[in-house]
Amino acid sequence: MPMRQAQPSMPAMRVPLADLRAQHQQLGRDLQEAIDRVFAASDFILGNEVRQFEEEYAAYCGTTEAIACANGTDALELALWAIGVGPGDEVITVANTFAATAEAIVRCGATLRFVDVDPRTLLMDVNELETAITPKTRAIVPVHLYGSCVDVAAVMAIAARHGIDVIEDAAQAQGATSRGKRAGATGRAGCFSFYPGKNLGACGDAGAVITSDQELANRMRQMRDHGRASGKKYEHAIVGRNSRMDGLQGAILRVKLRHLDAWNARRREIAATYRALLRDVDIRIVAVPESSEAVYHQFVMRTSDRDALRQELEASGIQTGIHYPIPLHRQPAFTPYLPASMGVSLQETDAAAAEIVSLPMFPELSDADVRRVATSIGDCLTNRAVAAA
Ligand SMILES: *Cc1c(COP(=O)(O)O)cnc(C)c1O
Repeated sequence: MPMRQAQPSMPAMRVPLADLRAQHQQLGRDLQEAIDRVFAASDFILGNEVRQFEEEYAAYCGTTEAIACANGTDALELALWAIGVGPGDEVITVANTFAATAEAIVRCGATLRFVDVDPRTLLMDVNELETAITPKTRAIVPVHLYGSCVDVAAVMAIAARHGIDVIEDAAQAQGATSRGKRAGATGRAGCFSFYPGKNLGACGDAGAVITSDQELANRMRQMRDHGRASGKKYEHAIVGRNSRMDGLQGAILRVKLRHLDAWNARRREIAATYRALLRDVDIRIVAVPESSEAVYHQFVMRTSDRDALRQELEASGIQTGIHYPIPLHRQPAFTPYLPASMGVSLQETDAAAAEIVSLPMFPELSDADVRRVATSIGDCLTNRAVAAA
């Protein structure tokens, strides 16, 4: 068995932050069948597969409706537009998110009001909401970043007192729960991205909005499809746009949805292993709110020497990420849409941006690789402590 003996001395394989290939190899036959069905029907835009995906996804999330659209940014824009967000309105969200959250708000004509994050979870600090609400506030967009849910019920209670809406950005939280309800199912609407790297990902761009508000659902269905009156190809009830899901993506997502719970369970197992192995290492793992069961789109920790650690890990073949390195209140794109009166000071958001690092996380990551990542982090930090002593 000379091959076996040779293995330990072989260069260690690279551990990527995420890897979609294993998933697609595992599902190859089912995906091909789904693609073949779409070609056979040649239903390339919306169509039967998308309709069935909408039903299955709504059922999975526990809402009556799911409206499939072209991507997650559009899902947010459709939901905000459909509830009537427009010029003169303010929308409250966080700056520790992907740019799309703010893009959708600005595209609707509204301005942005960022609240700071809770330093433990790096999610919207619900205690900051009340003071951020002004007479112009039209909606709150909590972001379930990293696959952990903001306590949406708490956000809803505050919003209800002020007569404003809650639209959840659940792009990173397919299958997560908040007080037992699926991400996206508590607010007036919940918005999802099926970008390939998300926990449930298409093979291209795709997105959806979920809601149990039938009238709102009808409006979004019109908006995503040129404002068409239902079933009438050339009758335009409102000025809409084109943000439809491809039939191919609908068919592919139906195949993958059946595996989402198992994939999320494996992500939670990996997270638990990281927590156990890093327990005695001098880093802080970003916490999950007690009200949420997380699906670990990312596994994020904090360390003051983040950039050096990332370099050392990279040198030993371990890829890491930063979600996100520049908070949105510091992005030139968005500064014109912040309240002029208020100097934006988001201390916890800024502090986190300098310290966060996301570790490799995807369902097919092996236990051996999880151990290798954790051991390498321990080694890097111990060596640094010894050198500094
Ligand atoms: C991915 C993502 C989006 C946008 O989704 P796209 O499908 O890429 O348009 C929105 N918000 C958050 C938090 C995301 O992670």
